[in-house]
Amino acid sequence: MSQKIIERFKQFVAPTYGRFPITLDRGEGAYVWDTDGKRYLDLGGGIAVNCLGHANAEIARALAEQSAKLMHCTNFYHFEGQAQLAEGLAKRLGQGRVFFGNSGAEASEVMFKLARRLGQGEGRFEIITAENSFHGRTMAGISASGQKKLKDGFAPLLEGFAHAPYNDIDAVRSAITPATVAVMIEGIQGEGGIRPASAEYLLGLRALCDERNLLLLWDGVQCGHFRTGSFQSFQAILGDQIGDFLPDAVGMAKALGGGFPMSAVWISEKHADVLGPGTHGSTFGGNPLACAVANKILEVIDRDDLAANARAIGQFFLDKLVRLREKYPTAIRELRGLGLMIGIEMGGRFSSFDNSKPAAVQWVFALHEAGLLTIPAGSSVVRFLPPLNLTQEEAQDGLDLFEQTIQKVIE
Ligand SMILES: *Cc1c(COP(=O)(O)O)cnc(C)c1O
Repeated sequence: MSQKIIERFKQFVAPTYGRFPITLDRGEGAYVWDTDGKRYLDLGGGIAVNCLGHANAEIARALAEQSAKLMHCTNFYHFEGQAQLAEGLAKRLGQGRVFFGNSGAEASEVMFKLARRLGQGEGRFEIITAENSFHGRTMAGISASGQKKLKDGFAPLLEGFAHAPYNDIDAVRSAITPATVAVMIEGIQGEGGIRPASAEYLLGLRALCDERNLLLLWDGVQCGHFRTGSFQSFQAILGDQIGDFLPDAVGMAKALGGGFPMSAVWISEKHADVLGPGTHGSTFGGNPLACAVANKILEVIDRDDLAANARAIGQFFLDKLVRLREKYPTAIRELRGLGLMIGIEMGGRFSSFDNSKPAAVQWVFALHEAGLLTIPAGSSVVRFLPPLNLTQEEAQDGLDLFEQTIQKVIE
């Protein structure tokens, strides 16, 4: 069964992804089954998307009920679900307004257009992003991202992006020119290998942006939506130091729809009119189905206090992983992360590995055999981005499979 499906992919599906030879059939909570009936614990969460796990009954019901009522109506009209969701997101950030799209890359586009439009009259258009950053795969997205491999072969890129080393406030200051209009960062670099921003960096950026009249644009697509134990990762990173820290815009996607494709950008009230009528749009953005799902997800996260669960289970993982690192120092090199956004820097070059492939991919592959799904990042990082409602038993199950795999690989 699975082999036949894989063959049809080879023939009919564009080869843009390096896909693993797994053919998934169904899921339930933190587990998925392939077409051969093999069960996997899914700690990858569809790259931080499935925040309530697979086949969540409440999401399924919200989706079915909305689809029987009003599936789509375009943004020519009003409907309650979008108002409710915009309010629900804004009240977690501050006075401001929300634009809805369909993907993380589109959230980035809104922030680029916001910055361009704001700077237009003054001839300012440049946006400084971080080295190793990821902001999506559109032409503007790859132009903005600080990773060469995303840009290769796509020249000419969109002009007006400069990159500065992450967590280095002096480097950002030096990169500012008279044309600079904004700075854009991820709170925790996801694709870049789970690298959290420091509190000093965030506070320094806010002060620098205020001083030089720049927008601070926040890509919370991967690190947002309670993954770090707070709605947005700056709230988790800054904690007591937060004061009145707020970015000027916050991009959200991935977990926002829990598997329903959608994105949102919150824009602070001060700049909420910059993108006025006719300046931007999306046919599907924030449609009734998407909003019904996202509203249900926020309701469940609040009701079940999944932010606290993300903190607790994240800490449980980290404590146990620290012990595994002590036990297997050649396999686990370094641990990074916050809440349920965990990056494990793995060692490479084991005799059981095909060393022509990056260590990250080798490890993810070996973990599949044990029945564990994780997400590779960069050349040597394995990511855990599990559902926010993961239980301690499930986390322990994952740690056991992880340890078994390490023992097998390094022996
Ligand atoms: C995934 C991701 C994106 C792009 O999202 P898509 O939905 O794939 O377009 C943008 N920024 C960050 C930080 C991401 O992790």
